[in-house]
Amino acid sequence: MALKITNVLQGIAASPGIVIGKVFLLEDEELTLVQKEIGKDEVKREIQRFRDALVKTRAEMVSIQEKILKTLGKEYARLSDAYLLILEDPLITRDVIKRINEGVNAEYALFKILERVIHSFEMIDDEYFRERKHDIQDVGKKILRHLLGKERRQLSDLTSESIVVGHNLTPSDTISMKESLIKGFVTDIGGRTSHTAIVAQGLEIPAVVGLKNVTGQVNEGEVIIVDGNQGLVIINPTAELLENYRREQEIQLAQIRELEKLRDLPAQTTDSHRVTIAANIDNVDEVKSVLSHGAEGIGLYRTEFLYFNKSALPSEEEHYQNYLKVAQKMLPYSVIIRTIDLGGDKLSHLGLEGITVENNPFMGLRAIRLCLKYPSIFKTQLRGILRASAECKIKIMYPMISGINELRDANKILEETKAELRKEGKRFDENIEVGVMIEVPSAALTADLIAKEADFLSVGTNDLIQYTLAVDRVNENVANLYEPLHLSILRLLKTVIDAGHNAGKWVGMCGEMAADATFTTVLLGLGLNEFSVSPVQIPKIKRIVRSVSIMEARALVAEIMECTEQEEIIKIIKKREFKGMSN
Ligand code: PEP
Ligand code: MG
Repeated sequence: MALKITNVLQGIAASPGIVIGKVFLLEDEELTLVQKEIGKDEVKREIQRFRDALVKTRAEMVSIQEKILKTLGKEYARLSDAYLLILEDPLITRDVIKRINEGVNAEYALFKILERVIHSFEMIDDEYFRERKHDIQDVGKKILRHLLGKERRQLSDLTSESIVVGHNLTPSDTISMKESLIKGFVTDIGGRTSHTAIVAQGLEIPAVVGLKNVTGQVNEGEVIIVDGNQGLVIINPTAELLENYRREQEIQLAQIRELEKLRDLPAQTTDSHRVTIAANIDNVDEVKSVLSHGAEGIGLYRTEFLYFNKSALPSEEEHYQNYLKVAQKMLPYSVIIRTIDLGGDKLSHLGLEGITVENNPFMGLRAIRLCLKYPSIFKTQLRGILRASAECKIKIMYPMISGINELRDANKILEETKAELRKEGKRFDENIEVGVMIEVPSAALTADLIAKEADFLSVGTNDLIQYTLAVDRVNENVANLYEPLHLSILRLLKTVIDAGHNAGKWVGMCGEMAADATFTTVLLGLGLNEFSVSPVQIPKIKRIVRSVSIMEARALVAEIMECTEQEEIIKIIKKREFKGMSN
């Protein structure tokens, strides 16, 4: 018998949890591409063959979209809109045909055009847009398969519980995800913002992406372990590893069950200091999970999803309907709607004048800066938010404010929008609260001024840390320098929270730091009023809040603020964490 060697692959943790199961290999057989020169008399037939393949691909995609709509809902069905748009793009409908006319077969013409486009996508700085090259590749493969008359294996072929292993999972693959047979999935490619990661988190299925060549390393039916917490995939696990992971899985399940009991208990410390634990969401479908995990509101609704995969900007009505739906479901709690945080590059496909692909989009025409430059885009969203506020509990929050003047400028447009609605006789909440995200160091350092004119502050640590420490938040090469416990960050947090409180305003945090249980006691001690985290993280944070006293938390903060060495701070926090775990 051949000796099996255990192989541990490190990828990107896309969705938490552990699963052990058999592989269902989704990967296609190689599609062999042949280059053929064709004569003038064959061109017409070749173009027709290509057009037929497009028609078949379209029919396939429309049927898939209908299934997605039924199974996963509208928000996920939108992901497949992008696929249909690619199919209609002139690069497919015009350029490939032009190439065939030059005397090559359809398969080769398609391959050459896609190669060029994919190369241009690889040059884009922004991770989200760079990732979209996979969508183009997937559409290309579909057309190619129809040209070659080959069928791809479908997830609907599944007959027993499995872990799906694929090069990439397309929106069309995700249609069966809700069916309980799929226990987890892993892919060769993809990053944190890939469709695969978005879908996995929404469905709460453990997933690891970006494994480079997992499809080449596993066999159908083989048992693997997917550790979605650490981003690991273990092939051919030893009996000991399997045992350890089974135990770990049981511990996690027991913890989840234990944590579920906290759902309806208040988020308060042992000495009755009350905080709010709210949820971060990207789309309407997540509200179910928000409620089932016991959130007391939505602390951050990232509205960018409404703009992705679209050929036109969303209308006021789309904004209104979307916000109304979320906020109605959340009653009696409130929803904080963050106005768009889109970068200039992410809107370049909409052809807005003055929007170009930027070399440094994180510091470019992003978020509130973009809204102030294009007030009509801003007003359309504000009108949608305001109208929805007439019927539900909604608050507005501006992202990337860098100082008081930007807040005033944004508020001026908000007031104009309100005046227009009043004139039109359209109702809205006249007392709607307006908060500011503190995620730029200049805003943190002038938070006292901002707090006087805002109704609340919410710290966006994802950006605040990246700008303060000059560490790109998505660059794995400097990930070790991304340190939330850096004294500069702790001092900034103290400055912001104190500034909010001195102005009589509450202060929340919606960056990932709020979702990491290691920091919960420190944040409590600093005086944070609201923790806004992804729904699955809520019970874990609540457990920590309920296990400490505010006195202890304040003492911890006093102790670490005296430290001069970062290692010392980390040591104190880790020691506490360890003690907490053994309690
Ligand atoms: C943040 O920056 O912490 C934040 C919550 O916003 P985003 O992650 O959407 O930039
Ligand atoms: Mg941010």
